[in-house]
Amino acid sequence: MAKYIAAKETSSLDSKIERSHKILQNCHFCERRCGANRLKHEVGYCGVDAVSHYASEFLHYGEEPELVPSHTIFFTGCTFSCVYCQNWDIAHRIAPEEPLLPEKMAELIAMRKYQGARNVNFVGGDPTPHLHAILQIMNKCNVNTPMIWNSNMYCSKEAMELLSGVIDVYLADFRYGADECAQKYSNVKNYWHIVTRNILAAYGDAELIIRHLVLPGHIECCTKPIVEWIAEYMPEVRFNLMFQYTPHYKANQYPELNSRLGYEERRRALEIVQSAGVKNLV
Ligand code: SF4
Repeated sequence: MAKYIAAKETSSLDSKIERSHKILQNCHFCERRCGANRLKHEVGYCGVDAVSHYASEFLHYGEEPELVPSHTIFFTGCTFSCVYCQNWDIAHRIAPEEPLLPEKMAELIAMRKYQGARNVNFVGGDPTPHLHAILQIMNKCNVNTPMIWNSNMYCSKEAMELLSGVIDVYLADFRYGADECAQKYSNVKNYWHIVTRNILAAYGDAELIIRHLVLPGHIECCTKPIVEWIAEYMPEVRFNLMFQYTPHYKANQYPELNSRLGYEERRRALEIVQSAGVKNLV
């Protein structure tokens, strides 16, 4: 890990918290920039107002080997609307949830560290709508532990500035190589420009692990451009090529996504990675 955050000592945290609350009045934590006044209890596209909730927190052993056990906090709501979402009940706030109190979460972080957690892993849904709450949690933390931003990376520039200096590891989900695919399956605009911009910023800011969930039928339009971009801009980056896609949620309405990956698709994805020269694979 590049730098372990002594969160309480980070003098800029108070200023970051103040800036995050200004953003909440006209929310632009993510590049949807939907402008909800969350401080007036308006709910944004992500389904979240000013009060953050989480569905669960536990020691997670299924993340990348260097991260486990990882104290993973599943925030509710999401800035994306993926038709195949495996956590759709969390993303759409159907699962049971609890309001997040920063002091209480800081205590849980200390307890999980005592139980062996190697880090704190902010995920969801997506953590982006909860940035203000996450900064408050950091401010209350009395333990020195690496902070992981586990996200779809559709954050706004302003959110990326708030994250800079307080995040140790970006666990970046890089899903689509074509904006049409992002629009069709996640209802997201301008995906490629925004996500590559943020991944480049993350690369210069902290440790970075890129995850790419290979989607059936999307090897040439998505996997290939993503891998080639990584090979061009950050060939040494830690890269997790993920083959575990399983149809969930509304995937049965999209025949091309209503199956698991076939052998030939897995072989082709690996061939693309090898010929591009991306070697630091998880
Ligand atoms: S984080 Fe939520 S409320 Fe804020 S801009 Fe994005 S969708 Fe809108």
